[in-house]
Amino acid sequence: AKFGGTSVADFDAMNRSADVVLADANTRLVVLSASAGITNLLVSLAEGQEPSQRVFLLDEIRRIQYAIVDRLQRPDVIRGEIDRMIENIAMLSEAAALATSAALTDELVSHGELMSTLLFVEILRERQVNAVWFDVRKVMRTSDRFGRAEPEVDVLTELTITQLKPRLEQALVITQGFIGSESKGRTTTLGRGGSDYTAALLGEALHAARVDIWTDVPGIYTTDPRVVPTAKRIDEITFEEAAEMATFGAKVLHPATLLPAVRRDIPVFVGS
Ligand code: ADP
Ligand code: ASP
Ligand code: MG
Repeated sequence: AKFGGTSVADFDAMNRSADVVLADANTRLVVLSASAGITNLLVSLAEGQEPSQRVFLLDEIRRIQYAIVDRLQRPDVIRGEIDRMIENIAMLSEAAALATSAALTDELVSHGELMSTLLFVEILRERQVNAVWFDVRKVMRTSDRFGRAEPEVDVLTELTITQLKPRLEQALVITQGFIGSESKGRTTTLGRGGSDYTAALLGEALHAARVDIWTDVPGIYTTDPRVVPTAKRIDEITFEEAAEMATFGAKVLHPATLLPAVRRDIPVFVGS
């Protein structure tokens, strides 16, 4: 099951997503986006900012993530890790202000998904769920086209089967969408909105029976329901048609999401 930015935007949203995960015992692997707004803030930092603007953007990131930390029963378990992430972001942002690069940008923006997954694991643990955090970069091998890396399906499948699959038998696994790593271990990203693609790629590698994309609209519509209120929900759509809509801009799915699903004929549910 994959949850997008609004589904992990704050403490209440994370808890609603946790309810969804726990309602279906067949859900074994959870793929998360960064909390809403975080990726955009990180992209701004990666563009290279003046010190005062850096402080402002970092404060925004801290505010969004602390609002979740502060509502935990034991905030101190996780605060140190979030602080370490934010320190890293500060250091990388300083480097980006001197000389930015696509590789540095990917390293920076990956912190959004790293933080949201840490927080979500803690929320589940406070609910007595046996949940583990998994760094998807161990298995999500991609090319080194930073910013729009192509997955290397054979390698990532092999790595997923050896390194991720055994963990699914022991615990509910929480991992990051969007990010990966190239052969030298440097962090990459699959392009904006790429968490859907991650979910489908891992579903393919694991021969999942289904991939669920939980988002902030109740399904795929004839057009963007936020723009056209009379848009109608499409209850079932072929992979080809959904891929075409996504390719021509329907943001509800990353355009490549359907490729892995088609290769293994895995049904994809999209909804809220
Ligand atoms: P998430 O963070 O869950 O990945 P996104 O914002 O990426 O969510 O995608 C969901 C959004 O896609 C919806 O809020 C909606 O405004 C937009 N959207 C665009 N086209 C469509 C469509 N044809 N059907 C449904 N939603 C669409
Ligand atoms: N967090 C990333 C983005 O905002 C990936 C995603 O949400 O799918 O583009
Ligand atoms: Mg999206």
